[in-house]
Amino acid sequence: MASSAARALREAVHANLGRVRDRLAAACAKAGRDPASISLVLVTKYGGPSLVEALVAEGALDLGEARSERIVRLDATVAGPRPRWHMVGHLQRNKANKVAPILSVLHSLDSLELAKKLDERRQGAPLPVYVEVNTGGEEQKSGVAPGELEAFVRSLAPLANLRVQGLMTMPPDTDDPAGARPYFAKLRELLPRLAALGAPRGLSMGMSHDLEVAVEEGATTVRVGRALLDGIEDEVLREDRERA
Ligand SMILES: *Cc1c(COP(=O)(O)O)cnc(C)c1O
Repeated sequence: MASSAARALREAVHANLGRVRDRLAAACAKAGRDPASISLVLVTKYGGPSLVEALVAEGALDLGEARSERIVRLDATVAGPRPRWHMVGHLQRNKANKVAPILSVLHSLDSLELAKKLDERRQGAPLPVYVEVNTGGEEQKSGVAPGELEAFVRSLAPLANLRVQGLMTMPPDTDDPAGARPYFAKLRELLPRLAALGAPRGLSMGMSHDLEVAVEEGATTVRVGRALLDGIEDEVLREDRERA
């Protein structure tokens, strides 16, 4: 990427990240919550190495991707401090081997087969995972059905190399952010079903357009991608994405 384009991208990311943090702070103030109780995962799937490096330069090291191959490639490409990689999309079982050692957090645990594979491959510190719940009951979405959550959670208990942090959901798409509220509320109401694992309290929910609603409903982690892109030219982004 030309240095002027890279500079413009860094400036846009700086401004956009500031706006996202301001939105979170305002949502916390409104909900009477401590901003320190919410972590921000920055999803880099629309860009590539330059977007990652711009975020790392901001000290934003918790980065999310929806495809494991991209985590492997980006982790090998980017210079500077190591990002903490969050896998937010569906992880295919046959891709678990390669990514298990470099993942910091998996937000989308949705099957026992995947859990077993990750448990086998994980070395060192246990892998923090969120169980994805299909709160909207949508056929095309992955995630455990709410009615199966309890049995699923019990089946994870013997897997010593995984540590369940809480629950994650991707609500059905709506234009109106408030449309996500019932699904976020439903996820929160499912938390007691994690009792078999010592009742972890994490809720990974909320994206660019509905993070305020998620904060009001108790999110502890929001995953934001699109809101980082304002003012970055499509062409610049496309070129960067092709490098990942
Ligand atoms: C893309 C993605 C996000 C970020 O969504 P934005 O609308 O870009 O903020 C969050 N979670 C998952 C699972 C995603 O795939």
